[in-house]
Amino acid sequence: MVSRVVFGRGSFNQLSDILEPKRLNVKAPFIYLVDDVFKGNAWLTSRISLAYEDQLLFISADKEPTTSQVDALVEDIILTYKDRPSGIIGIGGGTLLDLAKAVSIMLTNKGESKDYQGWDLVKSPAIYHVGIPTISGTGSEVSRTTVLTGPKRKLGINSDYTPFDQVILDPELTKDVPTDQWFYTGMDCFIHCVESLKGTYLNAFSQSYGEKAYDLCKEIFVEANGSKEALQDKLMMASWHGGMSIAYSQVGVAHALSYGLGYLLGTKHGIGNCIVFDHLEEFYPEDVALFKHMKTIHNIKLPQGICAQLADDEFDTMINVALGLEPLWENALGKNWKQTITREKLRTLYEKM
Ligand code: NAD
Ligand code: ZN
Repeated sequence: MVSRVVFGRGSFNQLSDILEPKRLNVKAPFIYLVDDVFKGNAWLTSRISLAYEDQLLFISADKEPTTSQVDALVEDIILTYKDRPSGIIGIGGGTLLDLAKAVSIMLTNKGESKDYQGWDLVKSPAIYHVGIPTISGTGSEVSRTTVLTGPKRKLGINSDYTPFDQVILDPELTKDVPTDQWFYTGMDCFIHCVESLKGTYLNAFSQSYGEKAYDLCKEIFVEANGSKEALQDKLMMASWHGGMSIAYSQVGVAHALSYGLGYLLGTKHGIGNCIVFDHLEEFYPEDVALFKHMKTIHNIKLPQGICAQLADDEFDTMINVALGLEPLWENALGKNWKQTITREKLRTLYEKM
């Protein structure tokens, strides 16, 4: 679990006070990985105070993080600084948060990040790392994974060293998120809750967080219950609780299929989950109906026919990625999932998207 967290509108102002005691020495910088959507945005960047050799790197979130991107960042840091950094601070959505987590792990673990994709493969504790979400939904700010696309698969580095040491939850940072993206990333949270609550791995721990986040999603996306600011606050906490819910259970069918789309077509996580979930009536009937209702309320038009032109080997690639995520299927459908989930079935589902 994340060991320290502050919450509140304006809490981003506490960043330098939080970091200063963690500075190891003047040659050990803090390195900020910031979504480049904030480049030239003084409202945010003027509150990051750089001292000594601290560095601020703007990074695009247009593509999801890859293992080679992580390895290149780590190599740059090692070559630039004699001393190991005092900390890595990720500011942005799931893309930047996952990058920050992965870089902090790879600064203390040998080899390439692709070698750590999987469960509990990380040997040494990461360096101090701080997560500051600027869009709500993925739960990356609280989770014990960092999802990376590698040469062979899209899979997280899941470990006890992955979670942030410190998180700053300042809902005001989400104020300029465009509506479509707000919906896609918000629905990631909704889908985390559905897959956790409807899964066979469910337990009292996961259920308590999942139910709270599910209810918050309804307040936000169906009832629009509260001011704009109140809804931002609620979505930030829904994201946190949704992440906590899957921490002790697992995601399910939508995530397995969405990883296939992401791997082959580069479809981003939030929108990919929406495209898939729209076709999962068979698995999650009431929740898919509610999802469609939320789409209508917010006038969201999802892309159609994204698999229409694909060749057989491309379908095979997506199916291999999806089927490789065994814990997700087992959570969704139980130990005998292989009796119902066949390659043909997945092909039919992908063909509908
Ligand atoms: P994102 O980080 O990819 O950002 C989506 C878009 O929103 C980008 O264009 C970004 O620039 C923009 N944006 C972010 N904050 C903004 C702001 N305040 N104002 C205006 N624009 C803003 O989106 P995401 O959905 O948060 O993250 C997706 C990533 O998270 C994927 O890589 C996925 O694999 C990962 N993920 C990780 C976990 C985990 O537990 N580690 C869980 C789910 C998803
Ligand atoms: Zn997700």
